[in-house]
Amino acid sequence: MAGNWKMYKTPAETSAFFEVFRPLVAGAAHCEIVICPPFPDLAAAVESARETRILVGAQNLYWAKEGAFTGEVSGPMIRATGATHVIIGHSERRQYFGETDESVLKKTVAALDAGLTPIVCVGERLEHREAGQTEAVLCEQCSNGIAGLDAAQFAKIVIAYEPVWAIGTGKTATPEIAAEAHAVIRREMRARFGSDAAGSVRILYGGSVKPDNVKSLMAQSEIDGVLVGGASLDPVSFAKIVNFPS
Ligand code: PEP
Repeated sequence: MAGNWKMYKTPAETSAFFEVFRPLVAGAAHCEIVICPPFPDLAAAVESARETRILVGAQNLYWAKEGAFTGEVSGPMIRATGATHVIIGHSERRQYFGETDESVLKKTVAALDAGLTPIVCVGERLEHREAGQTEAVLCEQCSNGIAGLDAAQFAKIVIAYEPVWAIGTGKTATPEIAAEAHAVIRREMRARFGSDAAGSVRILYGGSVKPDNVKSLMAQSEIDGVLVGGASLDPVSFAKIVNFPS
């Protein structure tokens, strides 16, 4: 269960979030919990998550280890904060910052080289879905991006299916629509990496997940977890999502 805070919260607000969130998820042993705050909050999040099962991730990285790349942050720098995960290829990065399947692949490899678990995002836009191109778009994103990994690298990633039309819009994909897309992604992964690897990879659903729809999404066997934006900013709401079985 991963939370993407996007560009919200200061370090002080991060610590305040964890004060409330920590006790609420102390009994949650059924899943991994990852919070992905903005870069300046990583240290505060790692400190607040110490001696808990909560993991911390970044929302982006640059593929070089270091160098003259003003404004960028590398995998080793993120790992040095104590963070363990990084979101790659989020649709907001693809849409506003020019990320492509090719840059997603380079960033995924860089994250793995730095010892981070990449959460690699794919998903179609509304016009793709309306034109019946969802499957084609997902296949293209998979084959140009994730399929470029080798088997050992693939075994270490998490995939997130995030239909762009459902992100921050309040429009959740129905559990059936989400499961269908997950099945397409898994089929593509099976063709590239084989049944065992494709069966084991975790595919998260993201797009307006809330406390009142998480249970029905998680009831789909294809959906292994969720990537949550807006509803992860409030500790009580994200704890309800994490604690969905109870
Ligand atoms: C996201 O940012 O990855 C996301 C899914 O956002 P939201 O839950 O707000 O739709």
